[in-house]
Amino acid sequence: MKKECVLVSGGAGYIGSHTAVELINAGYDVVIADNFSNSDMGAVEGVRRITGVDVPVVEVDCCDKSAFRRVFEQYEFDSVIHFAASKAVGESVADPLKYYGNNLTSFINVVSLMHEFGRHNIVFSSSATVYGEADTLPVTEQTPRKPATSPYGNTKQICEDILRDSVAAYDGLRGIALRYFNPIGAHPSALIGELPRGVPQNLVPYITQTAAGIRECLSIFGDDYPTPDGSCIRDYIDIVDLARAHVVAITRMVGGKCRKNYEIFNIGTGKGVSVFELVKTFERVNNLKLNYKVAPRRAGDVVAIWADTSLANKELGWHAERTLDQTLASAWAWEKHIRGIE
Ligand code: UDP
Repeated sequence: MKKECVLVSGGAGYIGSHTAVELINAGYDVVIADNFSNSDMGAVEGVRRITGVDVPVVEVDCCDKSAFRRVFEQYEFDSVIHFAASKAVGESVADPLKYYGNNLTSFINVVSLMHEFGRHNIVFSSSATVYGEADTLPVTEQTPRKPATSPYGNTKQICEDILRDSVAAYDGLRGIALRYFNPIGAHPSALIGELPRGVPQNLVPYITQTAAGIRECLSIFGDDYPTPDGSCIRDYIDIVDLARAHVVAITRMVGGKCRKNYEIFNIGTGKGVSVFELVKTFERVNNLKLNYKVAPRRAGDVVAIWADTSLANKELGWHAERTLDQTLASAWAWEKHIRGIE
């Protein structure tokens, strides 16, 4: 039987590369499309080494519609997972047109090409950022979205709306938006992982780079929040667990199991962890001391957010499986691998 093929746009990136691996492990064919603006072939090589499959890769900017159209002409996928987007919150505030330009144009292109070519299933990478500072915790998919506090967050909300309206209008199109909480960690093989360019903006890469001696000291942004230990609370989801959520979403659509043509699922662990707890866990599982200090709050941070994942548990049959200990060990193993640390 011919295998189902999935186009993974942004497949050389952090979440995309891990998802490509899990798709292949689950028996799908994968085509990666990436413009390599924030990624490199190393991730693709890692996917190939882990899976033993010579995954095809097309270098293409999804904002260039005629170039992107050629990918649709060349490959017979019925499903797309769209990761290709810019993702730095601070940069989006400094350069909003880059974010609206990239993230909206590439998404509009992918949906319109799917419509033009009669391709059916799309998974969109959304984010818990759409909830903002929620009034009640944990957040369910019904929790109202708050006005976005950054252009990046706004692009996630707008793309969700574009998807909702497009599946309502175009027969045969089905969409699932996965709202990710905080993806962290790396593949257990340490062959792929997160590789931020420049100074990391996210907590775990900053921690691993500090442990590796690349950064001098981690700043913990705020210890006077109204939380038990004063630091912010997030729901840190293992990258492989997150990648598996995409596979079950695709399988649900391919198998005609969707309840509606547009569905939304929270993808997190359901547990809130503070910054101090995360740092202490990292130190314990990896048996090292991290240089850190308390610094002022970072503008735009919400105090606390974690997911109610019951919908994904029930409807997708998906649960986060890896423990925070395993995930933080994998993050350090990956950092050591890329830095050549024994
Ligand atoms: N954080 C921190 N120091 C850093 C980076 C992040 O204390 O160098 C905190 C940040 O204030 C937030 C949490 O870690 O409370 C997660 O931040 P991250 O940027 O990783 O994800 P976000 O939840 O902002 O998307």
